[in-house]
Amino acid sequence: MVVAKRTIAPEENEMLIKTILNRLQKQPGFVYGKAWLDEEDGPLNLKVEMHPRANSRAHCSGCGQRGPGYDTLPQRRFEFVPLWGLKVLLLYAPRRVNCPTCGVRVEALPWASGKQHLTTTFSWFLARWAKRLSWSEVAEAFQTTWEQVFRAVEMAVDWGRAHLDLEGIQSLGIDEIQWRRGHQYLTLVYQIDAHCKRLLWIGEERKAKTLKSFFEWFGPERSKALSFLCSDLWKPYLQVIAQKAAQAVHVLDRFHIVAHLSKAIDKIRAQEAKDLKAKGREPVLTKTRWLLLKRPENLTEPQGTRLADLLRYNLRSVRAYLLKEELQLFWDYVSPAWAGRFLDGWCAKTMRTRLEPMKKVVKMLRAHRELLLNWFRAKGTISSGIVEGFNNKAKLTTRRAYGFRTYRAA
Ligand SMILES: [Zn+2]
Repeated sequence: MVVAKRTIAPEENEMLIKTILNRLQKQPGFVYGKAWLDEEDGPLNLKVEMHPRANSRAHCSGCGQRGPGYDTLPQRRFEFVPLWGLKVLLLYAPRRVNCPTCGVRVEALPWASGKQHLTTTFSWFLARWAKRLSWSEVAEAFQTTWEQVFRAVEMAVDWGRAHLDLEGIQSLGIDEIQWRRGHQYLTLVYQIDAHCKRLLWIGEERKAKTLKSFFEWFGPERSKALSFLCSDLWKPYLQVIAQKAAQAVHVLDRFHIVAHLSKAIDKIRAQEAKDLKAKGREPVLTKTRWLLLKRPENLTEPQGTRLADLLRYNLRSVRAYLLKEELQLFWDYVSPAWAGRFLDGWCAKTMRTRLEPMKKVVKMLRAHRELLLNWFRAKGTISSGIVEGFNNKAKLTTRRAYGFRTYRAA
């Protein structure tokens, strides 16, 4: 006799899923319908149909009033919080309402707002995790994209902005990050006062217009009350800052300057490696990129030995590296005058080399000498946030700390 394996009937499965969903989150005016595991359009996922409660009328998304039905739009998918690592998709064909006040409008849905593809619950879920992990780690862990995580954080920041106390902000840090493989930028503005560090604002792109819209939101009064601003040497930012908060001491932070030098070294190294290869010389420069870019104290022991080896050669890359390391001393000065003298000496020395990418950085530093020395004028009087600058770790921590006083309570 053949013994049939005990399988769970699909209806039982469905009941289980519905029970869980109803327990986790009831959707007022709607019911969970058919639920099934699906493998047809990618990795195994859980699909759940949504239906309006029988005889319920749709609410207008414009004004929230109930209105007579107009028509039904094609089915849309909404991403819910994953269960057991499975992507959960709610499927629903939104109705349109013929609203007496707003005209024909799509109905309001309790689980998502506007054109959002993520459910509100999932957005908050991602935004909360984004305080603990980097955005890409969150995307990977919860099977979504970097962009969706960014949208979720943006939603949390928007929400916070509406519930935000902006009194007494003295120091701002402005930074840009690249996304979509470097083709796009976001501008991030942080409060970096000693008593409060948080992400205040996110804008798409890094144009003058972007930062201007920040200052418009922030308001002229608060802008005039700022004491310190910290940013990179990005021209559109410099112009807008000079215009909107001229009284604030503008500081160019150490992190960004080192980043410019590292880029220059990278260029020199790549070119030199090519030249050496063309001349058929031994490939001393292959796999040396990190040796030259990392601080010596961060190298592992074998890397340290390789660096010592490399330094015996009189290579352009090595000379550039030594110049970068020498500039580290600059930050140890206390008096702006002495720091300035050291900087001038370093610049003159670098200009006598033939290291073109380094000379380009020198020109930039010389053009903004005063802003650089502001770092010393600000040291001691302002938040450690600015003085530490934006090292990557600090940036990540601050980016996660977009918590607003009221956010936790929410
Ligand atoms: Zn309406």
